[in-house]
Amino acid sequence: MANCINCGAALTGTLLVCEYCKTRQDVDLSVVHRFTVENPRSPRICPRCHVPLQTVDLHLQGKFLIERCPRCLGLFFDPGELEALLEKAVGNVHAIDPQRLNEVQSVKRREEYPLAYIDCPVCRKLMNRVNFGPRSGVIADWCRAHGMWLDGGELRQILEWTKAGGGLASKQAELDKAKLELEEEKKKLQFRQVDAALSHHRPEPEIRDFEIDLLPMIGRLLKKIFH
Ligand SMILES: [Zn+2]
Ligand SMILES: [Zn+2]
Ligand SMILES: [Zn+2]
Repeated sequence: MANCINCGAALTGTLLVCEYCKTRQDVDLSVVHRFTVENPRSPRICPRCHVPLQTVDLHLQGKFLIERCPRCLGLFFDPGELEALLEKAVGNVHAIDPQRLNEVQSVKRREEYPLAYIDCPVCRKLMNRVNFGPRSGVIADWCRAHGMWLDGGELRQILEWTKAGGGLASKQAELDKAKLELEEEKKKLQFRQVDAALSHHRPEPEIRDFEIDLLPMIGRLLKKIFH
């Protein structure tokens, strides 16, 4: 959990301003030891403030460039960059901490921005709004071609959620769902086999066809489980 740089009070959720002493602070990049500004005016534009974003180097095992708005402290990640940052900053999480996850999931969100679609910093087309993970508390803005925008404070929330096992919890939920689907398909298959065995005039190949059809589905489920 991050603390206010001025008074030390806990800063929770996506808040950037301390509730006690009102100090505004950059909580997101506190996960890196230092970052440097590579280019103060990149050609990319902040979707909130409409000023050029800075390109900053997070120095995570070598160069790690992302874009940042110096005014609202929002961050823009090219496709795959956020996942790489989480992996480097959090590492592997092996267990879900239910109490911590519950705390992380029940914190306040900043509500200074109206619920609206905002422009991609690169192509200026409206981005999609996506839940970062189930109940992570972050609704990110995402352009399929160019990447993901996080408002100031949201990266910190995602990091806390990931550390508490939020990512694992969502994988577990997917796994459970995939298992259920597989069970359902097995039951259907058994049902069909019994059904076919009981009806004398049903030709054999129909069962074989069905078994062949089932294979790609099992493959897809396995891919889902182990992706
Ligand atoms: Zn404070
Ligand atoms: Zn901005
Ligand atoms: Zn775009």
